[in-house]
Amino acid sequence: MSRIFCIANQKGGVGKTTTTVNLAAGLALTGKRVLLVDLDPQGNATMGSGIDKRALDPSVYDVLLESASIADTRRPSPQGGYQVLGANRELAGAEVELVDLPHRERRLKAALEAVRADYDFVLIDCPPSLSLLTLNGLCAAHGVIVPMQCEYFALEGLSDLVNTIKQVHANLNPELKIIGLLRVMFDPRITLQQQVSEQLKAHFGDKVFNTVIPRNVRLAEAPSYGQPGVNFDPASKGAQAFVEFAREMSQRLG
Ligand code: ADP
Ligand code: MG
Repeated sequence: MSRIFCIANQKGGVGKTTTTVNLAAGLALTGKRVLLVDLDPQGNATMGSGIDKRALDPSVYDVLLESASIADTRRPSPQGGYQVLGANRELAGAEVELVDLPHRERRLKAALEAVRADYDFVLIDCPPSLSLLTLNGLCAAHGVIVPMQCEYFALEGLSDLVNTIKQVHANLNPELKIIGLLRVMFDPRITLQQQVSEQLKAHFGDKVFNTVIPRNVRLAEAPSYGQPGVNFDPASKGAQAFVEFAREMSQRLG
């Protein structure tokens, strides 16, 4: 049975999509069966997996509105070695349309039941908000992976997310927990980043993953080639860090 994880942080541009896409590809390299769910209307994880978001029909939007199944919607990432439940702008409408529907925050969870046996891992790329879409992700998941940059306000921003996770845990999904915090876009030459990194470890202990993802331009270039960085330039420091992170994740889960 699969383990289902959300990659979440309500801030934009912190590396959620890069983490989701490259963790999916890294796990696929080790022989794991992976489904990536794109829950962001920007569709960056879809495009970064090599799937044209403009040509998606159906998409995760139809799955949430129960007009399509995941089995009919998923597609293979051409280079990534995993499958993708893609998203595009249409998904922004789901936010409004779901509000009046029953079980509005459990739609993704219900849809995943039918395909859970097909995967070792389901990775959900969340939008940069604590919205109904993110709530669908958190209700469906066993755990949350939080990518973060080691910047001055990083810890402050984290408390909103931690509170949301606590609320979802208490009211909607007792299985939910934080799996770990992943330091991304890390530059060891910047003293402040080292300091914040130490603060993170002092605060969150072994909830901080050992693997650190460096700032690496190849990771930023890869999406424009429709490939995870892990496949685009396997020798790059960024790719190697994500392969290492995939290994750490698998080990942590036992
Ligand atoms: P989010 O999904 O949280 O909005 P992204 O994963 O899209 O964040 O990352 C934001 C930007 O930073 C993107 O342009 C991405 O290519 C770039 N980026 C992410 N991680 C790295 C990294 N480790 N090194 C260099 N650039 C990165
Ligand atoms: Mg994103």
